[in-house]
Amino acid sequence: LLAALIDQAAVAIERIRFAAEMDAARLAGETERLRSALLSSLSHDLKTPLASITGAATSLRQYGGLYDAAAREELAATIQGEAERLARFVANLLDMTRLRTGGIELKREPTDLGEAVGAALQRMQGVLGEHQVDVDLPAGLPMLDLDVVLFEQVLVNLLDNAAKYSAPGSRVGISANGNEQKVELTVSDEGPGIPASDLERVFEMFHRVNKGDRQRAGTGLGLSICRGFVEVLGGTIQATNRTGGSGAVFTITFPESCFTAIPREDAAE
Ligand code: ADP
Repeated sequence: LLAALIDQAAVAIERIRFAAEMDAARLAGETERLRSALLSSLSHDLKTPLASITGAATSLRQYGGLYDAAAREELAATIQGEAERLARFVANLLDMTRLRTGGIELKREPTDLGEAVGAALQRMQGVLGEHQVDVDLPAGLPMLDLDVVLFEQVLVNLLDNAAKYSAPGSRVGISANGNEQKVELTVSDEGPGIPASDLERVFEMFHRVNKGDRQRAGTGLGLSICRGFVEVLGGTIQATNRTGGSGAVFTITFPESCFTAIPREDAAE
């Protein structure tokens, strides 16, 4: 009996060792895949704006005298716009690094959803300029215990996508509802929406539905940062498509554990 038990244990150990080796190999493969995805994304996302900046700056210096004021202004605007895009890209990479290394220190404070949405919209004014933005936030939503900086970054990324993946003039909606158990906030657009098979994958790093789409610059990092931040804050985020019309809908849910504890009035004494 003892010999049989020992044999069984040996088989079990061998299985565990094999599984561990497989896991290590899978992990190495995954790391390698991420590294090459990061490198190709990095080189594309850095090269393109840098080429535009270099081109515009060279034209200005060499032929500036030949251009009228409007043409010079356009070149300067190109330099500014592309430099800002680079800055957003680098900020996204830094956020991602902080998330992955656990280097995020949360500064939670009682947060009013309306104020956070207002601040994010303010920051995205330029990007959303040609869209019709509808905000529908009911009064009396619970206050949430959030890190406003992280939460605003989530909203900014979602609004950036809503504007980027839909036509100028179309509607971008922000709405919320809540009860005693949870608060839900949605950001929706009237673009093409997301294929069913990609609804979950869009939150993966570097996953882009239409990789050949060079027109819409992107890194495939925005939504993975959104999910990372929302989860750090104690909530969840899902993607769906609009029912009755095309368009993507992103829903952030904060459970009761994220509500700011407010002393009840009747317990004041
Ligand atoms: P990026 O926009 O930089 O590519 P994201 O992580 O923000 O990266 O988004 C990942 C992918 O999800 C996008 O490339 C796009 O294919 C898809 N996506 C994101 N938001 C939307 C949206 N509002 N409508 C349609 N597709 C979207």
